Amino acid sequence: MEYLVGIDDTDSASGMCTTYLAYYITSSAKSFSVKAYPRLVRLNPNIPFKTRGNASVCLDIDTENPSKAFSEICNYVKKLSDVSHGANSGVVFAKKETRNKIFAKVYQHALTGVVNHRRVKRILEENNVPHYTLGNGMGLVGASAAIGFDMKDYTFELIAYRMKENWGKPRIIDPKSVVEMDLATFPQTFNNFDYEKERVLIAPHGPDPVLFGIRADNPEILLKAFNLIRTEEQPDGYLIYLSNQHTDAHLCKKIEEKSFSSGWVEGIVKSVKRIRGGHIMVELHGVGFPLAVYSPTGDLARVASRLMKGDRIKAYGGMRKPSKNHKMTLNIEKIEVISVERNIYTNPTCFKCGIRMKSEGSGKGFECRKCGSRRKCKVVTTIEREILPGIYLSSPRAHRHLTKPYARYNSYRITEPFYVEKWFCAESRNLLLSK
Ligand code: ATP
Repeated sequence: MEYLVGIDDTDSASGMCTTYLAYYITSSAKSFSVKAYPRLVRLNPNIPFKTRGNASVCLDIDTENPSKAFSEICNYVKKLSDVSHGANSGVVFAKKETRNKIFAKVYQHALTGVVNHRRVKRILEENNVPHYTLGNGMGLVGASAAIGFDMKDYTFELIAYRMKENWGKPRIIDPKSVVEMDLATFPQTFNNFDYEKERVLIAPHGPDPVLFGIRADNPEILLKAFNLIRTEEQPDGYLIYLSNQHTDAHLCKKIEEKSFSSGWVEGIVKSVKRIRGGHIMVELHGVGFPLAVYSPTGDLARVASRLMKGDRIKAYGGMRKPSKNHKMTLNIEKIEVISVERNIYTNPTCFKCGIRMKSEGSGKGFECRKCGSRRKCKVVTTIEREILPGIYLSSPRAHRHLTKPYARYNSYRITEPFYVEKWFCAESRNLLLSK
């Protein structure tokens, strides 16, 4: 019998990683087997209670004995969850056919808004879905949402894990090998290396068990990419995930004016100004909240600074909670410039005196304050613009896990995911010895 098992909130800032649990469970399973590609599902990146990247996982399992499989999984979660440092784990054990009925909605809401975990618990109870919690059980939101992932668009990530004795030690990955891998596999793999800051992007920096993760549009290229990386430590093994990462799934709908929500807003630029720290503030006609592009977004801040009154844009991002000094603000993570204004309208100058004329009020023309002569209309000057209509993203180092990179804009998902035989490897072996 096939079940979908959602798991979330097993880690804390001081260790663990929910994906490691998926790896551990996949390699330890006794009363069930994991059918290829666990799902790595990212949820609303703007919620405040995430540890890092708001990741949850879903395992597609096969078992003859569901209750034994459920308790075996709960035991793994209990054993590995970092509850003493604040993990609030949730496990949901659902029949495959209930995905659309119960979980699809939770997924949609958890991508763009804030979901109440007590409400999710109630839904699970009303539908007799087995579930398990530790701490305050908030992990039920992510666990349920992971099951509801619709796979409309997806990517793959190969995550290599560290041996236990290396957890917490610095990761030594040869940057040259990452560049070589990038050159050999881009655009099928992406976000591997930041060429502007000369930084490796595939490795995290925290104490978690992840050695590195490579992201791609297809799983085959991941095995090739993996073999090109040189590290000074042997990985414990790797697992390939099917994921909603890099699909812009959280930017799918018009944004709600509520703290922490994600989405988009469209409008005509009313004003653009640079503030202290190099951040750019944008106002749109008819939109009641300001938009901010922060300077660490690099390329995006450069683009935003070139916007002009009259440009039509669609701005994507997340709502920052209002504070004592700021109104609720949309933090922009992607800009679609729909059209650019090429005309500048200014008050005419007086032919006689050469000074700028004063407006007499809307539709009433202009008058020279010195000689009293009059002109009817504004003067139109056509200018060259430094930006064109198109999609603009932040620099890769500032991307969120869900950000769709330029490399994916021409890829279409028309087929079922295909499986590579070596999607999982848990033997401690000489995989990536330094060469
Ligand atoms: P990591 O990326 O290292 O796995 P994390 O950033 O995913 O960590 P968690 O420790 O899993 O952080 O904590 C996120 C918590 O927020 C989980 O309990 C999850 O159920 C909950 N959560 C996720 N999305 C939402 C949402 N949209 N509304 C309410 N709760 C959410």
